[in-house]
Amino acid sequence: MTLLIKNIKELLQVRDTNVTIVKGEDMKVLPILKNAYLLIEHDTIVEFGPMEECLNIEADQTIDATGKVVLPTWCDSHTHIVYAGDRTQEFVDRINGLSYEDIANRGGGILNSAEQLQNTSEDELYNQASKRLTEVIKLGTGAIEIKSGYGLTVEAELKMLRVIKRLKHDFPIPVKPTLLAAHAIPKAYKGNKKAFIDIVVNELIPKAAEAHLAEYIDVFCEKGYFDLEDTQRILEAAKAHRLIPKIHVNQFNAFGGVALGVEYDALSVDHLEELNPEDISALQGSNTMPVALPSCSYFLSIPYTPGRAIIDAGLPLALATDYNPGSTPSGNMNFVVSSACIKMKLTPEEAINAATINGAYAMGLSNRYGSICRGKKANIIITKAIPGYYHLPYAFGNNLIETVIINGDVF
Ligand SMILES: [Zn+2]
Repeated sequence: MTLLIKNIKELLQVRDTNVTIVKGEDMKVLPILKNAYLLIEHDTIVEFGPMEECLNIEADQTIDATGKVVLPTWCDSHTHIVYAGDRTQEFVDRINGLSYEDIANRGGGILNSAEQLQNTSEDELYNQASKRLTEVIKLGTGAIEIKSGYGLTVEAELKMLRVIKRLKHDFPIPVKPTLLAAHAIPKAYKGNKKAFIDIVVNELIPKAAEAHLAEYIDVFCEKGYFDLEDTQRILEAAKAHRLIPKIHVNQFNAFGGVALGVEYDALSVDHLEELNPEDISALQGSNTMPVALPSCSYFLSIPYTPGRAIIDAGLPLALATDYNPGSTPSGNMNFVVSSACIKMKLTPEEAINAATINGAYAMGLSNRYGSICRGKKANIIITKAIPGYYHLPYAFGNNLIETVIINGDVF
């Protein structure tokens, strides 16, 4: 089965060699072919080039992309899309003046999501999450990471991870599972955090790893949640089970979480709304990807990650949604790309690199996803007819996507 997409106005993110990450100045460069074609065989990109070289190509199916932009699907490296119910009441409470911390102190926030999740069956949880996953694929996401973290008991965390495993099995896109072992201190362990971490280290991590339910380990390293010492203990335990760290750091406070992540060879450090010069130096020379989540800043009205400073320091940057019920009830990567340009002052080229190739890197997938490259998986977005790719960030809130192709098939 071959699929030819022809008369493409702009084919974005074309890479001859298999580039797996872009950093610093290189992020300003988004390789583009104008008036191009793209040839897919089964689930793989096999050829692309200018239209004049396409004349003799015959394919089983042809899509005419006149006036349209074609690019690799978004790679969303940070989500919490397996959750039960919603937190709309807290949304209204915040409008009426309560802060995220006030709500957490009243037993709302993550503890509220945990209670709802513990009382929801595995099938119902799967049904809710699969609707969200379908929705984000239609919005152009072609690879995703999903975290546990709303269970807060060993059984409920394993339940979440099993749901993620089922999504991974049933959906055509790569799904990367993360054990967010320490997201909040459960009510039952209030004032006894150490006992909770003992369970995480001695029971949860070994059970999740032995059942092959997670590839990554995550911790909410934040004041009032888990400090550096707690985080280190969990990363140390995870290392023994070969779980790679991808951790929540510097959302509200900067106190050394980035350096700790780098020390444990984290694949990514995520959030970074509060960032010190020491955090930037810790990242330099490391293999750790900094990940910004601008929809979360938008929804909570907190500072945006200083993406400009990160890129100007020669570092790479990835963008992700943080799709979750409390701080980002949206999995729309198009909005993430727009807000990175509008609020973080990334150029469209930088934002698209951050949301494709670098997002794939932050899931260990950039050798197969994240760019238009011969031999890579054919996960592709075709836009509606638009004046050019600047419209992707510019026309924020509009859905400019016409077709999403996953593994060579229209989704
Ligand atoms: Zn998160």
